[in-house]
Amino acid sequence: MNTKKLDENYIAATYSRAPLVAVSGKGALVLDADGKEYIDLGSGIGVNCFGVCDDEWVQAVEAQLHRIQHLSNLYYTEPQALLAQKLCERTGMKKVFFGNSGAEANECAIKCARKYSFDKYGDGRSTIITLQNSFHGRTMATLSATGQDAMHVNFAPFLEGFTYAPAQDFPALEALCGGKVCAVMLELVQGEGGVIALDKAYVEKVASLCAQRDLLLIIDEVQTGNGRTGALYAYMQYGISPDIVTTAKGLAGGLPLGCALLGEKVENTLSAGTHGSTFGGNPICAAGALSILSRLDDALMSEVMAKGEYIKSELEGSKGVKSVTGLGLMVGIETEKDAKTIARECLEQGVIVLTAKSKVRLLPPLNIKKEELAKAIQILKGVIAQ
Ligand code: PLP
Repeated sequence: MNTKKLDENYIAATYSRAPLVAVSGKGALVLDADGKEYIDLGSGIGVNCFGVCDDEWVQAVEAQLHRIQHLSNLYYTEPQALLAQKLCERTGMKKVFFGNSGAEANECAIKCARKYSFDKYGDGRSTIITLQNSFHGRTMATLSATGQDAMHVNFAPFLEGFTYAPAQDFPALEALCGGKVCAVMLELVQGEGGVIALDKAYVEKVASLCAQRDLLLIIDEVQTGNGRTGALYAYMQYGISPDIVTTAKGLAGGLPLGCALLGEKVENTLSAGTHGSTFGGNPICAAGALSILSRLDDALMSEVMAKGEYIKSELEGSKGVKSVTGLGLMVGIETEKDAKTIARECLEQGVIVLTAKSKVRLLPPLNIKKEELAKAIQILKGVIAQ
């Protein structure tokens, strides 16, 4: 039986999959089961930051596979400890908690914020403000944190203690900051919500309000992090110092790894037994992440910014394009034509693009070759214009 049929018969129908059976690839090129080649402008939703089967990354992962794959967090493993050290050194954060995904990273942040507040102020100061149109994950807590009504059908009751502020409206957020609030959680570029970057002035005001009122500032960098926006983490481009930063997706270059980076205020909040994960920070994933992190340097970040600018300059004013949004290699394209139709037609023509709400979304590998990017953008432009 072929893969599509098996999938249909045996896998829960939670995804409307595009008709591509991925078999192999190299860098930004992906091959399907019929040997057709695609230029990938999606990176597995911002995960394969150095594309498919990058040599250095494969070598690092393979070397660790031959040593030990897992022994649990009851014991120490070197790749995990080294990765935590490198992440702290490069961010100025103090401690790291490892999980396996973005949702788990955010679960940790939510628990940590509530415990910080409980330890310091006692009961009843547990509300977390998030933004309307945000996306923080699919678990019950992170879905509760997600400020999208459409996601709040079917699964009630949700977790108490989340309230949603309209994005970019500082007085509205300030008005929600009553005595029950312990934290504010933001994506600096709303990804799933349509690739919308928050204004720097708004973010600065929120950050200083949080500092004044001892509200923890949690920045969800699950999608923006790990070089995607042209900095190691997007908060660095905004000039703020969050209390907690969560990340996942590109962190291990294609292996499941997420983490919450914990700043000074919360470095000792999570004590033994208060949180955990069987697989989190697994040595294979940590070895992959160490390889990725060592290459997210200034030269690559300039390249990410330059490629982002190139995409923008090609698409802005192009036929059928209404606007181009985003930061670095996280790009949203508002089009006259339906975005899902564009994604389908691009796939037919050998280019993988994503969508976010009503927009076309691009999250290409950070090191995509210029020729590949140029070829894919010409095809995309043609499809949008048709
Ligand atoms: N937070 C943000 C900003 C995301 O974009 C996502 C996934 O798209 C998540 C959290 C959830 O991550 P995961 O699917 O790894 O649980």
